[in-house]
Amino acid sequence: MGKKKRVLVKFSGEALAGANGFGIDSLILKFIADEIKSLIEAGIEVGIVIGGGNIIRGVSAAKDGIIRRTSGDHMGMLATVINSIAMREALERSGLDVRVQSAIKMEAICETFIVGRANRHLEKNRVVIFAAGTGNPFFTTDTAATLRAIEIGSDMIIKATKVDGVYDRDPNKFDDAKLLKSLSYEQAMQDDIKVMDDTAIALAKDNSLPILVCNMFKEGNLLRIIQNEENAAYSIVK
Ligand code: UDP
Repeated sequence: MGKKKRVLVKFSGEALAGANGFGIDSLILKFIADEIKSLIEAGIEVGIVIGGGNIIRGVSAAKDGIIRRTSGDHMGMLATVINSIAMREALERSGLDVRVQSAIKMEAICETFIVGRANRHLEKNRVVIFAAGTGNPFFTTDTAATLRAIEIGSDMIIKATKVDGVYDRDPNKFDDAKLLKSLSYEQAMQDDIKVMDDTAIALAKDNSLPILVCNMFKEGNLLRIIQNEENAAYSIVK
């Protein structure tokens, strides 16, 4: 048997909010849990990073000058822990084994991130959710996801979004916007494309980690992408 595929799926906190635009929508949790379950059943090892934007972002928390940016970022990292716990519940409800590992120690709630331990969980077909970002302010969960993907030797990072992939310009503004099937890391950094923040893309580039951008709300798409099926919809940055 060949080496098992290992993937890191990143989705934003906003994805969890659904139509409300805030908080956590249980139906979305359930949908995502079922999608992740189909990957585990196909023998794929899965790590997850969830953002915190549905609850709070450091930059916005600090915009009035009352809350310091570093404190706002601490709040943002804690928001990712809230989302991670919710996701763990939904995944467990779907019958999966799950571990949450936080970059910031909170031993009554979850494990602390230890790469060797994460690898062991993944080998045992447990889903590992990496919470609390990188544990440092001034970073994003896209960077945290890229870092964790590299640390665990993931074959790819999948940035799961609400759109089908990367367009040459904003598809909401331009009718003739074209979906790019494949692009370079340099293209992905361009202001009008911005697949992820520059830190995340630079890290992916330095470590030759492919970034796949896809629509997470198309049923079965994640599995089709990983299994390289012809009808899989995504853009790849490599
Ligand atoms: N954050 C941080 N360090 C990290 C990751 C995240 O300080 O390594 C904070 C930051 O304030 C960020 C918030 O957590 O705004 C939520 O993460 P992000 O904005 O990436 O969430 P998303 O946009 O994916 O929902």
